[in-house]
Amino acid sequence: MRCMQCGQAIAEGEKYTHAGKELCEDCYLEAVSVPKTCDPLSVRAARVDRERKGARGEEGLLPIQKNILNYIKEKQRVTREEVAERFNLTPRELEKHFAVLRHCELAKGNKVGDKVYLTPF
Ligand SMILES: [Zn+2]
Repeated sequence: MRCMQCGQAIAEGEKYTHAGKELCEDCYLEAVSVPKTCDPLSVRAARVDRERKGARGEEGLLPIQKNILNYIKEKQRVTREEVAERFNLTPRELEKHFAVLRHCELAKGNKVGDKVYLTPF
């Protein structure tokens, strides 16, 4: 079988499942950790897909992160709860994906009164 993220072949015992996807170890580790740079796909994926090399901003996002970003853009102002419910994410998963969007300066948290809204950057 192949990794659903980077497409490389994975041995049966080295398969990781995350958010309904079957991933290789590298992609799994990337999926569960908050990246330190603005390129969530990192070196391995860039090597597999040369077109992704040097990708910035939205180009490097995981599909779920693009979907969240589009949702935020569409609504202009959403709460974490709305996003979590819309995409069926746990608060922890949402935080992780949102951290990427915030880090890439695509979305940000905005405090209005006692509520925090997610808005386009
Ligand atoms: Zn992979």
